[in-house]
Amino acid sequence: MTTPPSPERASVWLEFSPLAQACSSINLGQGFPDWAPPPFVQVAAQEACQGSKFSTYARSPGHMPLVDEIAKAYCPKLDRSIDPKKNVLVTVGASEAIYLAIRSHIKAGNEVVLLEPAFDIYFGALRMAGATVKSVPLDIPGRCQSSEDITIPWDKIRSALSDKTRAIIINTPHNPTGKVFTPAECQQLATVLEPYPNCLVIADEVYEHLVYDHKKHVPIARTPGLASKTLSIYSAGKTFSVTGWKIGWVIGDRDLIYPMQLNQQWVVFSVATPLQEAIARSLQQAELAFDNQKTYYEALTSLYEGKRDRLIQGLRDIGFHPMNPEGSFFVCCDISSGFSSYQGLPKDLPELYQRHGIDWDHDTQSLLDYNVVRHLSLSKGVTTIPTSAFFVPSHRHGSNCHWIRFAFCKSDHLLDQAIEQLG
Ligand code: PMP
Ligand code: GLN
Repeated sequence: MTTPPSPERASVWLEFSPLAQACSSINLGQGFPDWAPPPFVQVAAQEACQGSKFSTYARSPGHMPLVDEIAKAYCPKLDRSIDPKKNVLVTVGASEAIYLAIRSHIKAGNEVVLLEPAFDIYFGALRMAGATVKSVPLDIPGRCQSSEDITIPWDKIRSALSDKTRAIIINTPHNPTGKVFTPAECQQLATVLEPYPNCLVIADEVYEHLVYDHKKHVPIARTPGLASKTLSIYSAGKTFSVTGWKIGWVIGDRDLIYPMQLNQQWVVFSVATPLQEAIARSLQQAELAFDNQKTYYEALTSLYEGKRDRLIQGLRDIGFHPMNPEGSFFVCCDISSGFSSYQGLPKDLPELYQRHGIDWDHDTQSLLDYNVVRHLSLSKGVTTIPTSAFFVPSHRHGSNCHWIRFAFCKSDHLLDQAIEQLG
């Protein structure tokens, strides 16, 4: 049983993007593409913002044209029937979908199992809901070369599950390691969960289109036995390079989605109408040829695969030890050797933070990965993310916490420049 970090503390995002700004470093930390969205997405938004047609509140659970398009696109992918009104909710990014899934289905004292490292937003929402977290570390071999070599500790998951377990959170492709669940692992998940009909699966699949080397993302809900217990969560931000638009959606059975639709009324009521309209049109356009590829999605995968290879090669050339990700837009680098001189807080850091009003969590001041990121920002001008942020505090000194995460959703010249500065 582990206590998630308090939500009333500065998260890693509040510290490191402002630090990158304060020291004008290259920000390979927070994962946001630094390029313009594709032209068809921009045109759709420009048109949707003109006049008054889309300038008022949207239908609370989602603008009809968007939920219709979502139902059309995901019915074959999830291999299930999707009623656009009953099985879909549009949210303020995948972040709000995660929040509503947790707040709508998890009561104080309920147990939730998750795999560490885990995207940190889960911890905040779970703590706000009063959930008890059972955090199971993934098996990551030392000097892991590829996320393919990460295995799921099924025995530990079995021991963590009980009749009190209300949900398990699965993130595939995985932030930060890039691990992609195989069909066999999805099937194993269904088997392990079979004795616990009360346990939902919150499936965070925001990187669904970012899977490389001809592998394919397997939606958790497609697995026999899991469809009726899974909430599948997606993000237009990742797919259309519009992270600032904050449009996400969640798909699931009526009895899982309806409480979330009701809670949506009391949280944001509805999501920006013109942006929903623009994403509805973009989902149609994305199926068409783009950039010499059969669809926009294929072009996106190939763009990212090139960037992944570029960053991995660059990091290897300068003696770093990256783990090749099968998916997502992140690369984790092993810092267990060669970084011991970066143990403490950089000398000038507290003064810099004070001058720029940067909020940070003082409990992180002795963590090696946090300090490596702080030192590299100041001395090399490159900012990344310490992955111990993706662990509950009591696990942050554990054997998995020796990785820093680089985001490669950045222009090639920035990736090259970062390698040059680190070298
Ligand atoms: N889940 C994961 C795994 C993520 O990395 C992110 C990153 N933003 C989100 C959810 C949230 O997505 P959004 O930006 O659409 O809120
Ligand atoms: N999900 C992104 C990342 O992991 C951005 C962070 C956030 O949305 N809080 O970098």
